[in-house]
Amino acid sequence: MRVCGFAMTVFFALAGWLSAPMHLAQAEAEPSVSILMYHHVSDSTPRSTSVSPDELRAHLTYLQDNDFTVIDLQQAVEGIRHGRDLPDKAVVLTFDDAYENIFSVGHPILQEFGVPWTLFVTTDPVGDRPGRYMSWDQIRQLHEDGVVIANHSLDHAHMPRRHAGENERDWRQRMAENILSTEQKILDEVGVSYQLFAYPYGEYDNALLEIIDELGFTAFAQHSGGFGPSSDFRAIPRFAAAGIYANLDTLGTKMAALSFPIKEVRYDDTLLTYEQDRPVLEIEFEVRDFRPAQVNCFIRSQPADIEWVDDTTMRIQTDEPLNIGRSRYNCTAPSISKPGRFYWYSQQWIRMDEEGSWPD
Ligand SMILES: [Zn+2]
Repeated sequence: MRVCGFAMTVFFALAGWLSAPMHLAQAEAEPSVSILMYHHVSDSTPRSTSVSPDELRAHLTYLQDNDFTVIDLQQAVEGIRHGRDLPDKAVVLTFDDAYENIFSVGHPILQEFGVPWTLFVTTDPVGDRPGRYMSWDQIRQLHEDGVVIANHSLDHAHMPRRHAGENERDWRQRMAENILSTEQKILDEVGVSYQLFAYPYGEYDNALLEIIDELGFTAFAQHSGGFGPSSDFRAIPRFAAAGIYANLDTLGTKMAALSFPIKEVRYDDTLLTYEQDRPVLEIEFEVRDFRPAQVNCFIRSQPADIEWVDDTTMRIQTDEPLNIGRSRYNCTAPSISKPGRFYWYSQQWIRMDEEGSWPD
């Protein structure tokens, strides 16, 4: 999938800026993975970012009982990137922020079910002794137990947010240094460097996508959607699985989600100024395995009007101004060849307030 600003489309196409091969594979054969995102495993931490031990067990039991295969994140990324065969209902489990309860409560449950998982570590709060966060000894133990230890920044900052008076070059350098220092810290402490990065809060803008490219990393965000050959490998979707999203009635559908076969996505930038309150999103599909008339999009939890520009290209735009902070456009469509399963694409936006900031 290519992602371009409208005005820059031709320029970038000519410049070969996005030189990644376009994958126009047949949807029937196109692999798709659902990546789930967790934080705390605890009864006593903030509900919105927590699953209870019982809920985690219920999720793993559901996966087991419904023919899902839990695969390693590395295997998923390499498999999708190189067009390798992956299990039909493949799921990846990721845990962010290195909270101690993930080690002491989550890990034993995950081991019991024998499933691989990935820890995205924010390194600054990790020390010699466990507290709210794990210690490096605990993270080394997880690595020995087969857990993929990956990068979630030094400090969990809102990365697209520029400091007052900071120019673009200095910001870019600060971002690259943050990502590379975290990677180095993990290499020093654990001995691994997978170059897999998860944006804090899932927040990114076009410039961060370019930085990820320049650093040769693969990056993960926090918007919904199936991960497949059409996905942007600099902002791979993950489904939130905690809090209100832990309910298996809805999470089960997400676990089985498919990646839309997409030729190109067009928008100006995911980071919006206060005035840019109604962003336009254009998606050009490779229609193979769904009916355009069955595509449904939601904005601000409301059904959105879809404008079909041609047979394969749709355009959506919010009627009302987006709220300040993060929001998403979500589109789904039922698969023809895989009854009961849905293609799912989500686009994240961050709208700034008048001071260029936004809430957590
Ligand atoms: Zn985080």
